[in-house]
Amino acid sequence: MSDNNKTILVTGGAGYIGSHAVLSLKKAGYQVTILDNLVYGHRDIVEDVLKVELIEGDTNDRALLNNVFATHDFSAVMHFSAYAYVGESVTDPAKYYRNNVTGTLTLLEAMLAASVKNFVFSSTCATYGIPEKIPLTEDHPQHPINPYGMTKLMVEKILSDFDAAYGLKSVIFRYFNAAGADPDGAIGEDHDPETHLIPLVLQTALGHREFISIYGTDYPTPDGTCIRDYIHVNDLASAHILGLEYLLKGGETEIFNLGNGSGFSVKDVIETAEKVVGKEVAKKIGDRRPGDPPVLVGSSEKARKILGWNPEYPDLYDIISHAWQWHQQRHKVD
Ligand code: UDP
Repeated sequence: MSDNNKTILVTGGAGYIGSHAVLSLKKAGYQVTILDNLVYGHRDIVEDVLKVELIEGDTNDRALLNNVFATHDFSAVMHFSAYAYVGESVTDPAKYYRNNVTGTLTLLEAMLAASVKNFVFSSTCATYGIPEKIPLTEDHPQHPINPYGMTKLMVEKILSDFDAAYGLKSVIFRYFNAAGADPDGAIGEDHDPETHLIPLVLQTALGHREFISIYGTDYPTPDGTCIRDYIHVNDLASAHILGLEYLLKGGETEIFNLGNGSGFSVKDVIETAEKVVGKEVAKKIGDRRPGDPPVLVGSSEKARKILGWNPEYPDLYDIISHAWQWHQQRHKVD
């Protein structure tokens, strides 16, 4: 069975990864409506760059969702909206379970009531917890070590049960470290507060921060700092288009890692960023950040094989260059 309806609801489309997916969807000929509560999303990006319908609202608002589904004919939902600060999820888990789990459950129930049965879900490598084996494959045991990862794992379980009971089909993507920005320069990463390594290094280079803290140099890794698998946000976006098309062609529920399969330490990232910006960045060695596994590197062979996914920007230098281009224009010093 194939579905030619190219009208898609994107929750969290005003956020970092969601906005890049919306741009890719538009380029691929889809008609997009964004649902975003604008707590962390950016209205100006939707209005000035994406130029698609924006419904301001929350996934926990069932009456609003009923109205959205009654007034549109969506073939699928891409669900990016979630809170994603690991540290905050530890200090305020209620906020995370309510938004990420209850909000998603409400959205799924509204979808089912409207007979929309294709769902693309943003999950995370944080569902694995401490790796037993690297690179991580999709069948690796999942023991999240923080509430954020737990909320995403819970939704994965809900999706598995909803497929069995209601025939709701989903593609679940477990992202590794999303980074970079659209090379055209109009959209990029803009979190407030910012906690991620690459934007923080670039903000330091721009003079907005005094130094970058290196969270721990005593990990069991070659240079003692944590190793991560950085994946360009446009490559995440392209995987979403492939995942969507797979579902619209009648594909079964599947789970895919999305990463480049190569690990870079915190020190590697800072050194590469220094090359990109053409100067040294002030750094301080700090304590470990609680909840950080020493190494997270994923195998994405399954996405390559089943979806035909092939990342366009696997090079860390390119990833940081695109981020740098974006940060310079978004965060100009007046
Ligand atoms: N990190 C760091 N200093 C910072 C922010 C992050 O050393 O100011 C480290 C962090 O401990 C982790 C890596 O950089 O090992 C990537 O962290 P980020 O927050 O970007 O992504 P996460 O891996 O938490 O999703």
